[in-house]
Amino acid sequence: MKGGKLMLIQSDKNNETESKKPIRITHCFNCKKNINSQQWDECDSCKGIVCSCGSCFCSWENYGS
Ligand SMILES: [Zn+2]
Ligand SMILES: [Zn+2]
Repeated sequence: MKGGKLMLIQSDKNNETESKKPIRITHCFNCKKNINSQQWDECDSCKGIVCSCGSCFCSWENYGS
C-alpha cells in the first residue's frame, strides 16, 4: 500500500510546543526549596522565580552587589 508514510508525518505533531519559555529550575535562596518557572510565578521586576514563601531576587539583598 502506498501513502502509509504520509499518515505518519501528519500524526507527528508534538504537544511540547505548548511551553513558550524554557523551564528554569532553581532553589529559593530563602527557604532552600526547589522551585521551577513552570509551577511558580516569575517576578516581573527581577525575572526571578517567586517562591511560595514569597521570596524572589527583589528581596535578596545581596543580589547584584
Ligand atoms: Zn522560599
Ligand atoms: Zn522580584
